[in-house]
Amino acid sequence: MTFDVITIFPNFFDSPLKEGVLGRAIKKGLINVRIINLRDFTKDRHRTTDDRPYGGGPGMVMIPGPLKEAITHAKKDDKDATVILLSPRGKVFDHEIARRLSKKEHLILICGRYEGVDERIVKAFVDMELSIGDFVLSGGEPAALVVVDAVSRLVPGVLGKEESAREDSFATGLLEYPHYTRPKSFMGMDVPDVLLSGDHKKIERWRRKEALRITLERRPELLKRAKLSREDKAFLEELERKDK
Ligand code: SAH
Repeated sequence: MTFDVITIFPNFFDSPLKEGVLGRAIKKGLINVRIINLRDFTKDRHRTTDDRPYGGGPGMVMIPGPLKEAITHAKKDDKDATVILLSPRGKVFDHEIARRLSKKEHLILICGRYEGVDERIVKAFVDMELSIGDFVLSGGEPAALVVVDAVSRLVPGVLGKEESAREDSFATGLLEYPHYTRPKSFMGMDVPDVLLSGDHKKIERWRRKEALRITLERRPELLKRAKLSREDKAFLEELERKDK
């Protein structure tokens, strides 16, 4: 899977793409991340990528010319690549979108700066606008990294067996159960007995119940879309009864 990231700050990506899960996936060739410097596609001496907005107002807007050239370059051997603009106006990125994107072979991510990009780039080239949440960043680069990271985790082979994504929050439709590791006792708090019992059935049931309890407490709206067994539903009803 290939990610092309179009940016005026290519150095931004240096260390994040070297570390941890992403770094390893790139080294192994499971994913390929190409950082495209937008300034390489400018034609003037000053390598200009922005200009003042028509209609006035504060800030600058990214000019369409270099963006067109950079997108065309990224698409040159793959006309079917999906072009994504990071934007606070976009659809809010979530696990389901990450899952769908992880099935694609080639994503082109455009990082905005200043007030954003000329609207004609959106009309002519962009397949999808994605936001990483209801707040405003100073540039699309951190958002592009979020998308590259979350999508890569779902590409087969990127996570080892030990870090399998199967039970991660959202993968099951629920938030994840709590984790404990050594020491057994820490600041007077003990690891729940069940986790020391060696009874895998019982541990699995406890974790499922904790995941249900935490999801009900923090993100009850997720339960509407989660796959729930009869036992799960009975447990949730019991929790809701206790709450009253
Ligand atoms: N004037 C714009 C904000 C521009 S912020 C507005 O009010 O909508 C500059 C750039 O940062 C944007 O072009 C976009 O690429 C990126 N950005 C900012 N917030 C973002 C978010 N929540 N999700 C994804 N990208 C974001």
